Amino acid sequence: MNSAYQRLIAAFPETEQDKPLAPFVTFGIGGPADLFYKLTDTSKFEPLIKTAKELGIPFFVLGGGSNTIFADEGFRGLVIHMAAKSMALETSDSEARTIVSDSGVLLSQVIQFSLKHKLSGMEKMMGLPGTIGGAVRGNAGAFGIEIADVFHKALMYSPQKGLYEAGKASMEFGYRTSKVKKDQAAAGISAEIVLKVWLKLTLADPATAKAAQEEALDIVKNRISKQPKGKCSGSFFKNPVTPDYNKPQPQETKAGYLLEQIDAKGLKVGGVQVSAQHANWLMNIGNGTQKDVLEISKVLQTKVKERFGVQLEREVQLVSPEGFLI
Ligand SMILES: Cc1cc2nc3c(=O)[nH]c(=O)nc-3n(C[C@H](O)[C@H](O)[C@H](O)COP(=O)(O)OP(=O)(O)OC[C@H]3O[C@@H](n4cnc5c(N)ncnc54)[C@H](O)[C@@H]3O)c2cc1C
Repeated sequence: MNSAYQRLIAAFPETEQDKPLAPFVTFGIGGPADLFYKLTDTSKFEPLIKTAKELGIPFFVLGGGSNTIFADEGFRGLVIHMAAKSMALETSDSEARTIVSDSGVLLSQVIQFSLKHKLSGMEKMMGLPGTIGGAVRGNAGAFGIEIADVFHKALMYSPQKGLYEAGKASMEFGYRTSKVKKDQAAAGISAEIVLKVWLKLTLADPATAKAAQEEALDIVKNRISKQPKGKCSGSFFKNPVTPDYNKPQPQETKAGYLLEQIDAKGLKVGGVQVSAQHANWLMNIGNGTQKDVLEISKVLQTKVKERFGVQLEREVQLVSPEGFLI
């Protein structure tokens, strides 16, 4: 083991070595991380990152792993698994309420917490996998609602700025994107990290609160019955046209529709196959590898480009052994 790794382990003895990453991502792909740290206490984040930086160890921040596919060779550095789970309600004025949550809390747990406190605004995102930190970074959403709609501020960390607070305007939210995501793409590695999130929700009257709970339950049932089952990351490509949530989205502007037209369903490369149920869902049907994912995604992009002149962009993040987004 190299001496930088030894020094990090000496400073943070909970660090694990050669940790297989496949079990931490819903696609089930990824070789071992040289170093793996399960972060259950947010206050340890800054010292951990500072040490990694000083020792020249690359790092990658992982949430629920529902939008990430690691390299078959794994990761040559430190994976920090965001697993701090504190969540609380902050009372403000009579109608508005703020939930403050560690970024490692699952989005569905935040929504359950909000519904328990009769707060509405997030119920349409129920059942969406992953952490609230990952959801902020990708401005995750469903049924016309996205994180930006309820986001108030976040406690952030970047190696350049240290700890800082970011309000909604500075997050530059867009369709499945944010400043965090753009900066990560530009730097090629984890650049800005979400540590805590404040969400602003509305206190609902009893009838609205009941309706929100019922809607959340229906949405989960619907997801379970309609979504393909197995190892996957949900929709693989972004819709090429930014949706206008005030209007129904025409079918022909959706990635799934374009992929259906090129007969993508059932297409297979190695252990990765396009779902027979949903043309925009790739499934790991056995021993799928990141190479299989890359190859099948290139085949699909080429076919769609040739037929429609549209360049599909991956929504799922493929990570190289050095932590760069591919
Ligand atoms: C079955 C299924 C259904 C899905 N349905 C939807 C849907 O309806 N709508 C939708 O928007 N998405 C959907 N997704 C995609 C996925 O759930 C979201 O993108 C989710 O928000 C990712 O969160 P995560 O914690 O799992 O992120 P991860 O996969 O852990 O990470 C994704 C990226 O975010 C970065 N990241 C993670 N945590 C942080 C943090 N705290 N700070 C900074 N960067 C961070 C990582 O470095 C990585 O680059 C679905 C996925 C699956 C598997």
